[in-house]
Amino acid sequence: MGRIREYTCSSCNKVWRVHTGHGMEHAILKNVLDAFPTDIQQKIILDTKEEQFPYFEFNYRPAVCQECQNIIAIPVIHLHQSGHTYSSTCPDCHKAVVIQEEEAKLSCPFCKEIMSLREIGTWD
Ligand SMILES: [Zn+2]
Ligand SMILES: [Zn+2]
Repeated sequence: MGRIREYTCSSCNKVWRVHTGHGMEHAILKNVLDAFPTDIQQKIILDTKEEQFPYFEFNYRPAVCQECQNIIAIPVIHLHQSGHTYSSTCPDCHKAVVIQEEEAKLSCPFCKEIMSLREIGTWD
């Protein structure tokens, strides 16, 4: 089950809600592929083509896009056999983003204050 996290900047009053973790459907690699752009999909397929039941770990992780000044959830997959980890770029500007730990305190993309973080629900 995934978690819905709310980041609040008390100095500029901006609030971001992001869906992190993974849902039920993400237990199947085919469904996970949909979260990634085609170039990454192809890499994942190549890496797992010899495995009948690919062994992987998938999560949406919180990330900061400095370009868009936005907090977003980015799909990240780790493939155990190849040891590779793949993650998407920003869905809006397609630039690389800084992926954070689930529990990390993030600084506001506008004013750099440390934001408060709370869990407001779950999703699957
Ligand atoms: Zn962006
Ligand atoms: Zn701020």
